[in-house]
Amino acid sequence: MELSKITEGVYAVTGGTTVSGVICNSAKEALVVDTGLDESTARRLTRMLGEAGLLIRWIFNTHAHADHFGGNRFIVERTGAKVYAPALEAAVIQCPVLEPMYLFGGAMPPRNLRNKFLEAESSTVNEVAYRGPMCIGGIELEVVPLPGHSINQMGLAVNGVLFCGDAFLGEGTIAKHGVPFNVDIQAHLRTLDFLAEQEAILVCAHGGMYMDAKRIIATNRRRVHEIADAVLGSLESPCRTDEIARVTCEKFGVSIQAPSQYYLMKCAVSAVLTYLFNEGQLSMEVNHGTLLWSRKT
Ligand SMILES: [Zn+2]
Repeated sequence: MELSKITEGVYAVTGGTTVSGVICNSAKEALVVDTGLDESTARRLTRMLGEAGLLIRWIFNTHAHADHFGGNRFIVERTGAKVYAPALEAAVIQCPVLEPMYLFGGAMPPRNLRNKFLEAESSTVNEVAYRGPMCIGGIELEVVPLPGHSINQMGLAVNGVLFCGDAFLGEGTIAKHGVPFNVDIQAHLRTLDFLAEQEAILVCAHGGMYMDAKRIIATNRRRVHEIADAVLGSLESPCRTDEIARVTCEKFGVSIQAPSQYYLMKCAVSAVLTYLFNEGQLSMEVNHGTLLWSRKT
């Protein structure tokens, strides 16, 4: 884990699975953007910032996925940091079972879905962060809506740097995941359009820093359309959601092996089904108790 300076008082924490951000004021008080997966990440982060002479006073969570807020609990207990998070995301951070629950269709999920990758330790959220300017500890910030990957994801802009959470992914991460996780494709595409126009240095939590992000944003957009085409291609005849998910994932070299992965991929592909349905390209019907999707001709 390493603290990489981006600009005066603004750093990226690299070397872990999630790139966190650190923003500090002249009193060496620090705001951490996303805290990583768990206590072990948070311990290393806290130690590293301590060694750099920084005191963690605030946390901003871009969204409520376990690898972005799982370190909150430890940092809050250790430092008393105040936590900011967007509305809705704040609800999941405070009640993390909601994540495996929504993936499981709203029912209480079985024990094996209640793992640290889907359900982080809960954390308090002291203040809901809304879009617009915000001043914390004398630091002038801007909360920027970046929905799509998560329902109410927000980025944080400061000094010409925009921490983007998972609004887009790096090339390696796209290749690894094949079908990136997004819950609202229409919103995700609008977010990508917005990001492509930004002059700021973009920090992507699974990809690093981009001085010029146009190419990587285009890669992200292209993958969305490739997935939508793959979903349409899987519908030679009416098909169930999980079968469409299997065929689509295989097309991108992903074979679904475990229940957690099954529910994540089913959700990611369901978002594409919603998008295509709302665009008028699909229809859905229940046949003998089974929900089937069809391509409209
Ligand atoms: Zn995420």
